[in-house]
Amino acid sequence: MLRLFNTLTKTSDEVRPIEPGVVKMYTCGPTVYRDAHIGNLRSYLMADWIRRALLAQDLQVVHIKNITDVGHMRQEVLERGEDKVVAAALAEGKTAEEIAQFYTDRFLSDEKKVNIMPAHEFPKATDHIEGMVEIVEELIRKGLAYEVQGNVYYEVSSFPDYGQLSGNINEAELLEAVRVDVDPLKRDARDFTLWKQAEPGRILKWSSPWGDGFPGWHIECSAMSIKYLGKKFDLHTGGVDNIFPHHEGEIAQSEGFTGEPVVNIWTHGQHLLADGVKMSKSMGNSFILSDIEAQGIDPLAFRYLCLTAKYNTRLNFTFSSLKAAQRGLLRLRNMAWQWSMLPSQNGQNESDITEWYGKFMDRVNDNLDLPGALALTWEMARSDMPGQAKLAAMKRFDAILGMDLDSAERTYKVPQEVHSQISDRSDKRTKDDYQNADAIRSALSEDGYVVQDSQGDTRVRPKTDWEKREEAWHSFSSSVEVPSLVDEPDATELTIGMVACNYLGDVQRCLESALNWVGERPLEVLIVDNGSADGTDKWLEEKAATEPRLRVIHTDHVLGEGAAKNILLKQARGKTVVMLDTSVEISGDIFGPIDDALGDSTIGVTGPFGLRTNDLHHFHDGEGESGFMDAMQAYCFAFRRSRLKDVGLPRETFRFYRNLDLDYSFQFKDKGYKIVADSSLPVQLHEHRVWSALAEGERDELSKKNYRRFLDKWGDRADLLISSDHDHSHHTH
Ligand code: AMP
Ligand code: ZN
Repeated sequence: MLRLFNTLTKTSDEVRPIEPGVVKMYTCGPTVYRDAHIGNLRSYLMADWIRRALLAQDLQVVHIKNITDVGHMRQEVLERGEDKVVAAALAEGKTAEEIAQFYTDRFLSDEKKVNIMPAHEFPKATDHIEGMVEIVEELIRKGLAYEVQGNVYYEVSSFPDYGQLSGNINEAELLEAVRVDVDPLKRDARDFTLWKQAEPGRILKWSSPWGDGFPGWHIECSAMSIKYLGKKFDLHTGGVDNIFPHHEGEIAQSEGFTGEPVVNIWTHGQHLLADGVKMSKSMGNSFILSDIEAQGIDPLAFRYLCLTAKYNTRLNFTFSSLKAAQRGLLRLRNMAWQWSMLPSQNGQNESDITEWYGKFMDRVNDNLDLPGALALTWEMARSDMPGQAKLAAMKRFDAILGMDLDSAERTYKVPQEVHSQISDRSDKRTKDDYQNADAIRSALSEDGYVVQDSQGDTRVRPKTDWEKREEAWHSFSSSVEVPSLVDEPDATELTIGMVACNYLGDVQRCLESALNWVGERPLEVLIVDNGSADGTDKWLEEKAATEPRLRVIHTDHVLGEGAAKNILLKQARGKTVVMLDTSVEISGDIFGPIDDALGDSTIGVTGPFGLRTNDLHHFHDGEGESGFMDAMQAYCFAFRRSRLKDVGLPRETFRFYRNLDLDYSFQFKDKGYKIVADSSLPVQLHEHRVWSALAEGERDELSKKNYRRFLDKWGDRADLLISSDHDHSHHTH
C-alpha cells in the first residue's frame, strides 16, 4: 500500500481508493500564457510517480490535470510590456485562444520529454465557466457567498473549517497570509473572490448572473475536479505554494457546495529552488526544459535529478547537479545495454528478482522514498546477480522510475561497416598489433563511436549528444568551479577581457576592433562565453583555433554579470586588464594611453566614460570630460591586475549588469585608489542590446534592485566622493 503525507491530516496516510480498484486523482495544472519552468515540472513529476506507484499495485488510476487558460491578461499589463510573449503574439494578430493553445502544446511536449504519463483529461478552465457559475450560485443560495456590484466573494467566516489545510487558522495569521487585500467591497479581508467583474479593456470575459466578468482562480479547480472525478475522490496534488490560498479556497468551495469532504488526501510537492530561492519566472531564476536541451543534456536527466530528493524536501537546482544526474543516467543505461547483449537466460533468478523488487517497492510505498529506491537500483546493478537478471529487475523498477533505462537497446544503432572495423581491430589485437588496433579505435571515436573492451569482449556504441558536447568544450556551471590565478605572477602585458552572451555580431565587432589596435604588445584576449545560445559559443571556439592569443571560457547557462566577470578576472594573466563591453568598438590605440595612466600608482581605474555624483543618488556621465571621477562605466574599464589582491572581485549578488560598475568602482576607491577618465580614448558606443532587449518595466526593476545593493553598501560613504575633496574647481560642471 502506498502511503503519502497528507497535508490535511499531517500524517502519512494509506491511499485506499474510495471506489475499490480505482484511484481518482487531480493535479493542478499549468497556466498557459507562458512556458512551464522546470520547477513546475517537478510538481508534475511527483504526481506522475504517485500514479506509477499506484499502477504498480494493480490499481487503476484516473488522472485529471487542468489547464488554466483564464490568465490575468489585462490590456494595460500587456502595454506595460510585462508579458512580452503575449504582447508579441497579440501584436501578430493572434488571439488569446491561440496563445493558450501554443503554450498548451509546448507543455504537453515537455511532459512527454520527461516521460510524464499524460493525464486522462486536460480540461480547460475556459470550457467550464458554466460549471463554475453553477457552484457560485449554489454557494450564494447556501449563504456562503455574497455579491457586491458584479463581484462575488466567498464568506470565509461562514465556513468553520477554513484554514484547516494550511494551518492559517487564527484570524491574525490569515490576514497576514492574504497580506490584507484592500478590496473595499469585501465584508471581511479574508473573503476571497469567486467571480470578478470585468474591468474595461479585459480580453477574456464571460456573461454571468452578475454581469460580464471572469472566475476567480480557485473556483476552476472545484468545478473541474467535481465534474471529472465526482463529489468524493482520492487524491489531489500540487506544489506547496498551492496550499494557501488556492487549495484552502478550493476546499471551502467544494465542501460548501457538496456539504461533505471531497478530497481524501492532499499531497504537495516542495519547491525546486535556484540560487537558494524558489524558482519562478518573476524572480528571474527560472529555467525551461529547452535550456536543458540546449546543453545537449537529456530531459530525462532532469527526471533523474528529481529522483535524488524526496518530493517533500526542497531541491536546489544547479547545472552541475544536473550534469551529475546526466552521468548517472547514462551509466545506468549503458549497464542495461551491456546486459541486453548477454545470451538470454529466461526464468532464472526469479526469486532474487522478486526479492529486489520487494525491497524497491518498500521504498516507493514509504511516502514515495524515491532517493531510497534509486539507491537500491544502484545496489542491485552492482550486485552479483547475473546481468540478465539485473536487466529484468531494472525493467521492473523502471516502470516506476520512468527513465527509459532500456532505451539503449533500441537507440544504440551501429552500422555494419563499424562492426567490420571492430572485428578488424579484434584481429589486430589478437596479433598483438596494438598500434593499428588503437588507430582504428581513435578513428571510430572521431566518427562518434565509443569502443569498450570488457572481459574479452568488445562493444561499440554511438556517443550520446551529451558526450559529444562534453568533448567539444568544457563548460563551467558556476564561478566557484573556476580556479583563481589572482595570486599568480603576470604572464603577459595585457588582458583584453569580455563577457559575451549572444549578439555574435557585436562580439565580432568588439573583438576585431580591439585586435586591430593592439600592435605588437604581448597580450591575451580572454572571453567568457556566458551561456550563449545563438552560435556565439561555436564561433568563438573556431576563432580561438586560428587566433592563438584568444582564450575562451564557456559557462553552461547564463550566469549573473558579477559571476561572469569574476570568472574573467580570476583567469586573467595580463599585467593590465582592460574589460570591454561587447557593445563597444575600438577605433584607435587605447592601450598605450591606458598603460600610461595606470603608470601612476595612485590611479586605480581608467577608461573613457567616467561618472560623477555629489550625493550618491544622481550619477551623471562626465560627457566628454576627463579627470577624476567617482566611478568608471563598464563599457571600458581598465586597471592593473595586481590591484585585485586588495580590491577583490566584483560582487556576485549583482546578477544584472547595471550599477555593478558603480559598485566595483567604489571597491577601488575604498582602497584609496583614484578613478580617472580620459575622454580622448577612441572608443565608440553602439546600441547596448542587453539593455534594449528589456522591457522598460523590467529594466527599472532590475536597475533599482542593483542600486539598492549599491546603496546598502556605500550609502554612507560620501567621504569617497571626489566632491568631498578640497579642490572643486576642475570638475564642477
Ligand atoms: P503555476 O503554473 O504557477 O500555477 O504552477 C504550476 C504548478 O507548479 C503548481 O502546482 C505550483 O505549485 C508548482 N510550482 C510552481 N513553482 C514551483 C517550483 N519552483 N518548484 C516546484 N513546483 C512549483
Ligand atoms: Zn488548482
